[in-house]
Amino acid sequence: MTFFNKFFKRKIKNNPESMKMAFSPVQAEKMLHMIQLSQEVELSCDEVHDLLDQYAEMVIRGENVANLLPLAHYHLEMCPDCREEFEALSLILQAQQKIDFTAKMTG
Ligand SMILES: [Zn+2]
Repeated sequence: MTFFNKFFKRKIKNNPESMKMAFSPVQAEKMLHMIQLSQEVELSCDEVHDLLDQYAEMVIRGENVANLLPLAHYHLEMCPDCREEFEALSLILQAQQKIDFTAKMTG
């Protein structure tokens, strides 16, 4: 028996043990599906962050962000971090608008 054959045989022998640690084919397929789905549908936090200014302004203008920026909207529904960021930003924008408005009225 060559060294390669011995090595190969040992690998097969060890395989059942390592298979216990790995995903079952069904789990692996589900996982893959989730990854594919998330790549198609979801934005990353960074991407949402880039849209957040625009998104908050649209919300303040009363536009339908769920239709206009559905991916950002979906991410904000799912991600507490980004939602917190969005809420802080929209408060700032609203405060700014009030200041602008007051300045126009008095200026
Ligand atoms: Zn996020």
